[in-house]
Amino acid sequence: MKPSDPLPADSPLAPPSPAPGRPAIRELPDELISQIAAGEVVERPASVVRELLDNALDAGARRITLRLVAGGVRLICVEDDGVGIARDELALALRRHATSKIGSLHDLETVQTMGFRGEALAAIASVSEMTLLTRTADAAHAWQIDARSGELRAAARTTGTTVEVKELFFSTPARRKFLKSDATELAHCVEAVRRHALARPQVGFEIWHDGRLVEQWRATDDPDRRIADVLGDDFIEHSIVIGPHAWPSGHDSASNLTLQVSGRAGTPDAARSRADHQYAYVNGRHVRDRVLMHAARSAYDDVLHGQRQPAYVLMLQIDPARVDVNVHPTKTEVRFRDSQQVHQSVRRAIESALAAPRAALAAYDASASASAQPSATASSFGTASHTPDTARASQPGVWPARAATQGTLGLQVRDLQALWSPAASADVPAAVVSASRIASPDTPTEAIPTIAGDEWPLGRALAQLQGVYILAENAQGLVVVDMHAAHERIVYERLKQQLGDASISAQPLLIPATFAATAQEIATAEAHGDTLLQLGLELTAFSQRTLAVRSVPTTLAQGDAVALARSVLAELAQHDATDVLARAHNELLATMACHGAVRANRQLTLAEMNALLRQMEATERSDQCNHGRPTWRQISLRELDSLFWRGR
Ligand code: ADP
Ligand code: MG
Repeated sequence: MKPSDPLPADSPLAPPSPAPGRPAIRELPDELISQIAAGEVVERPASVVRELLDNALDAGARRITLRLVAGGVRLICVEDDGVGIARDELALALRRHATSKIGSLHDLETVQTMGFRGEALAAIASVSEMTLLTRTADAAHAWQIDARSGELRAAARTTGTTVEVKELFFSTPARRKFLKSDATELAHCVEAVRRHALARPQVGFEIWHDGRLVEQWRATDDPDRRIADVLGDDFIEHSIVIGPHAWPSGHDSASNLTLQVSGRAGTPDAARSRADHQYAYVNGRHVRDRVLMHAARSAYDDVLHGQRQPAYVLMLQIDPARVDVNVHPTKTEVRFRDSQQVHQSVRRAIESALAAPRAALAAYDASASASAQPSATASSFGTASHTPDTARASQPGVWPARAATQGTLGLQVRDLQALWSPAASADVPAAVVSASRIASPDTPTEAIPTIAGDEWPLGRALAQLQGVYILAENAQGLVVVDMHAAHERIVYERLKQQLGDASISAQPLLIPATFAATAQEIATAEAHGDTLLQLGLELTAFSQRTLAVRSVPTTLAQGDAVALARSVLAELAQHDATDVLARAHNELLATMACHGAVRANRQLTLAEMNALLRQMEATERSDQCNHGRPTWRQISLRELDSLFWRGR
């Protein structure tokens, strides 16, 4: 080969030549890479706010001020009192993939900070005019850097960092066009701060818009105080503390794997038409995770039917090695290693928070604080597993247990709550046991021990109103109960329990109830004979066109046997022949419960009314009927007094 001969095309020394018909492959310039990354991370002003807040929190800020102009489009400025950035590192902080937060794959797998990708500042700078003003504790003065020019000047500031982002998307008009009105962008920015603020009660936040103070949340050690500030007092009033919940026992105990669920679950009657009050956190990071959202919603399945959306603030503490936060550039998605266990733990924790009948809790709370001394039964609840870990309370996303802020009484209330969860029936205190005995379906009502009416949470029955409501008197005043709704829940829970145990106990009818059945009803009765028996219903063909009901569930023995049989048949006909019980049993049982529950206009004796009240106190989820409507309301003496202008 002579030196003048062209190199063969496959020689490594040959200059790259494009394939025919397309431009050559080139490496992209840095700026463009950042702009492409910005496409993923920076969608709107609120995304910038999220990233800058992450950085401020990672820097240990205790006070963060956000200033916005024109919904954040003209200006987003985040001021913090964190550790600041040293002069020598300023230029580096703005570079792509430059971070102080991780240095190895191991760090990434156990990352505890909000940030770790080292992308945000570079990405934001590539689509805006950004300046950083910062000072570390040991610096003589502050430094300011212009991200675009890299120009560095001495400046004045106390320790901390101010990041100013002006004219977002000024260089990418196509993206700017996607922005909504200033008011909408502002709302998104405020929501971004809310998400951070809920998990960081110890950090104070201020939001200013166009020079006016929009929100101000003071630092506090009480997470409930922060929730009340951010989501309103209403949310606290209509929500229940979610207790700590460990992994299902026996699971992977060798690796000392723990998962803690805390937060507050909104009561079913406070459910909303939109899913706008659902906040979930993993190790203090706000996430929109499908596993968590599904687990939370399914915990409400039994108390919230239809499209209503529960409200909740859910905090998960999990070994960082068990969760991958590096799934998406915005880090709002995560991947759990054991998503099934996470799902189960979250669901159970919320379910048991919701299961405790609130009348009993409130009364227990009241009587416990009245005696100002843990009662004998109460003190036995104080198990080690529930000891609040105050030391961890200062970590992000770990809330001090309620007991830590309210003394020992709060702990007992939560523990009483735990008692209502099906798993925890072992050491039920005597008082609760006797209440649930009374609630057993077939106990004659005389068996109610004579106890002063005002000691029962739902009080002593006084009368029936219009055949619909039961009126009762308790220490707080008047209790009004929707008797059908309440009884429906009691029957439903009882049926569920019986079916869970094996099958629903059946009572033979002395005289079978016959009815003229359709061909489909007869076919369904034959095809689902076994299922029906498990449900406590025995149906046989009496003639070609007649079905006979030979037994009904004991719990429903008072009801209309034929109506019950027909609606169960109708429900069964909608499902495939196989495993109806496994998939649809709650719907079936709900249908049955509706038939078994006392109808409006049935006259009840005082003894019957009292029995119903006692059953409500002992039945899980009895504050709502099967459709999520409330079953009872308290009208306090104060409210009554104000109706009559009676000063107290
Ligand atoms: P990441 O947060 O993923 O590390 P960023 O681009 O958001 O990436 O930030 C780059 C680096 O700049 C951070 O690792 C941190 O060291 C520094 N930094 C950013 N913002 C602040 C701040 N408000 N206070 C102190 N240091 C900061
Ligand atoms: Mg960051």
